[in-house]
Amino acid sequence: MGEAILKIDNLRKYYPVKRQNSFGKSEWLKAVDGISFEVYEGETLGLVGESGCGKSTTRKLLLRLEEATSGSIYFHGRDIYRMNRAELKAFRHEAQVVFQDPYASLDPKWKVGKIIGEPLQIHGIGNRKTRREKVLALMECVGLPAEYYERYAHEFSGGQRQRIGIARALALEPTLIVADEPVSALDVSIQAQILNLMKDLQKRLELTYVFISHDLSVVKHICQRVAVMYLGKIVEIADTEELFSNPLHPYTVALMNAIPLPDPTLKQQLNVLEGEVPSPINPPTGCPFHTRCPHAMDICRVQEPPVNMMQNGHQLACHLYK
Ligand code: SF4
Repeated sequence: MGEAILKIDNLRKYYPVKRQNSFGKSEWLKAVDGISFEVYEGETLGLVGESGCGKSTTRKLLLRLEEATSGSIYFHGRDIYRMNRAELKAFRHEAQVVFQDPYASLDPKWKVGKIIGEPLQIHGIGNRKTRREKVLALMECVGLPAEYYERYAHEFSGGQRQRIGIARALALEPTLIVADEPVSALDVSIQAQILNLMKDLQKRLELTYVFISHDLSVVKHICQRVAVMYLGKIVEIADTEELFSNPLHPYTVALMNAIPLPDPTLKQQLNVLEGEVPSPINPPTGCPFHTRCPHAMDICRVQEPPVNMMQNGHQLACHLYK
């Protein structure tokens, strides 16, 4: 494993809620509630969980699109919330995003060349001629023919639009890409093409990815390590192979059981997760998963389990394992 390019330390993001509780006190939505993890150079770290678990807020915090309530994010050892203007500008070059829905994130009235070249223009890099050359090189890099340069984004299929989104993210030659559900809006066959493209680009350009997804089967395909999030907290982190062959946290086990079987005629005799994720406003006391956990004990309702390092590199927050 390379060096830690990102170190997230006890990160929190609470949003104020307008209503007050019965004691007249202000309430907070705890979107991210004390998460810590590292991302190593050249790896793909998956961040998985159901919708509403805090994945997308984490994405905004990692890119400093929002201020954290508390905690730190170190990028190559520098706290991104304490960077000066010059350092922050350099960070904005180094860390880029690929969004879930390429159609929503691209202006359909813009031509492909303009969409991909806009970051270069915003940052005042090169002149018209060199920017055009750079954009054409990026298009080739992601498998888009040069003749698409003058065409509009709305003329393209989802997979091609995601290639445009990836080319745009690469324009400033980043080292870190945070990809938020980058293939969720695509057909399965196109998903594989985009995942393979991302893997290929990672090797060629020495990129590090944080790959956010609700879909464990996609995460299995591309990530070296996986962090499982539940209600604003990370409940388990492990190498992908280890996590899939030996999931420990009851929530991870339930997510695994929810992966559709390749043969739908096979009856799935598994303990599939029931119920909704509780509200992050007034989340459950103790272990956040205790309201849905089949193994919940008395201690789980009152005491939050600490994150422990287990055998085979699992980091785990569960009272079942000491
Ligand atoms: Fe279940 Fe308790 Fe473990 Fe939480 S701490 S996952 S409630 S067993």
